Amino acid sequence: MNIIIIGAGPGGYETALVAAKRGVEVVLIEAGPVGGTCLNEGCIPTKAFCKNAEVLDGLKEAEAFGLIGLSYDFDFKAVAARKNAVVEQLRGGVEGMLGHKNITLVRGKASFKDAHTVTVIPNSSAIPNSSVIPSEVEGPLQEYTADYIIIATGSVSASLPIPGADLPGILTSREILDIEEVPQRLCVIGGGVIGLEFASVFRSFGSEVTVVEYCKDILPRFDTDLAKRLKQSLGKRGIEINTQAQVTSISETDGEYTVSYLRKGKEESVSADKVLMAVGRKANLASLNLADIGVEFTPRGIVVNDVMQTNLPHIYAVGDINGRMMLAHAATFQGIVALDHIMGISNEIDLSVMPAAVFTSPEAASVGKTEDECKEAGIPVKCLKSFFRANGKAVTMGETDGFCKIVVAADPKEGCESPYEPGRVLGCHLYGPHAADIVQEACAMISRRASLADFQSIIHTHPTLTEVLQNALHG
Ligand SMILES: Cc1cc2nc3c(=O)[nH]c(=O)nc-3n(C[C@H](O)[C@H](O)[C@H](O)COP(=O)(O)OP(=O)(O)OC[C@H]3O[C@@H](n4cnc5c(N)ncnc54)[C@H](O)[C@@H]3O)c2cc1C
Repeated sequence: MNIIIIGAGPGGYETALVAAKRGVEVVLIEAGPVGGTCLNEGCIPTKAFCKNAEVLDGLKEAEAFGLIGLSYDFDFKAVAARKNAVVEQLRGGVEGMLGHKNITLVRGKASFKDAHTVTVIPNSSAIPNSSVIPSEVEGPLQEYTADYIIIATGSVSASLPIPGADLPGILTSREILDIEEVPQRLCVIGGGVIGLEFASVFRSFGSEVTVVEYCKDILPRFDTDLAKRLKQSLGKRGIEINTQAQVTSISETDGEYTVSYLRKGKEESVSADKVLMAVGRKANLASLNLADIGVEFTPRGIVVNDVMQTNLPHIYAVGDINGRMMLAHAATFQGIVALDHIMGISNEIDLSVMPAAVFTSPEAASVGKTEDECKEAGIPVKCLKSFFRANGKAVTMGETDGFCKIVVAADPKEGCESPYEPGRVLGCHLYGPHAADIVQEACAMISRRASLADFQSIIHTHPTLTEVLQNALHG
């Protein structure tokens, strides 16, 4: 059996590695650096920024504890250099793994010639820092065919159709990673995960940050309680967040940007030295030639079934390109689900239990159903809560802001039915120190359909932040 995989992000390259280890011959085609958005301009560089922000916040904390006087020079160039070094190190690791004997890595841009043939325009210039340029990439167009094709071409930043959106100097999440100075005033358009992460780190780096968000709350897909309280926490750190604000235009005079927006019928504006456009991402459908080969897609992405199969049974689409869940681990696991389906292997992966985290300070994280979602679907639930201020470890750390909320299926009212047996844990939502790590325990249990009693029987080390789960579970 052989497979072509288009795109070497976490959807494509991880699937290629699993397939290769199972003995499948893989042609992996990548137009840019391996690792995709995640490694080169997403998860990894942003988390390198987050770490540096945490170190700076730690210094401020040390001063607040009276441990040190606060006098230091902050060198942003060192932040950028460290971020680049982290990315390069990990990219080198991926390059090394892709040297597997069953993988042919083709550097270039792929598009479909027909439903079984992929054409590649070689693109050796798009390989930063790579010592390996396979000889096959040089020369004219190449063609590949395979039994199965997996599309994993990811997504690109979206923008607003407003005057000024294309002004030079309006940054996307890719460009802000390479700015050379910390802006004194940063305006972030969009209060979703990406916008808030940058708002949080640049606040730690010293910027005055204003977030402008169209929806009623930040983080529209998250638990509303969590979003409201996280907004307050970020506000306490000096980040101004304007919700229900519809950005109408951006203008620039002498290097100063004015972002205008409508809020409750009134025109308001914010001035900034830099503007980050963080209004979401869109599937990277361009240049694949899907319409000609008859693969069904919408502006949201390629249409797939539960095993990531398109309407053409030998073509699959995994990761951001199908628009289902734009997360790196979702891309990887969708890839494995697709591969297992191709190979006729059964698995217990439940893609509906997908953890998600926001790496602000404090962090937020979520898995499973929210209270609102259950209410809308008429599922009776009860919510159990605990607060980090009652968690011994959080108190010793001086990081007591945050809570944990667990959503449990409740008894249905008389005459009503629920799809879930009472006591089954359906969701866990929290913000506070290391929320992104803590949520993983809940994810493990929820994906195994655990009940409240199962959860309650787990012993937690004392004193740890994970006891916030235990406290919530025991009410
Ligand atoms: C700033 C930022 C921060 C993020 N932080 C997180 C996080 O903390 N956690 C998390 O889970 N997710 C995060 N994400 C999202 C995550 O990066 C994506 O969900 C993930 O990268 C999607 O993986 P993918 O394999 O589908 O696509 P990608 O990683 O986008 O990879 C697609 C690859 O396909 C290649 N390609 C595209 N078209 C072609 C073509 N025609 N021919 C050949 N190659 C092609 C591209 O060059 C790219 O390398 C973040 C994203 C951003 C932008």
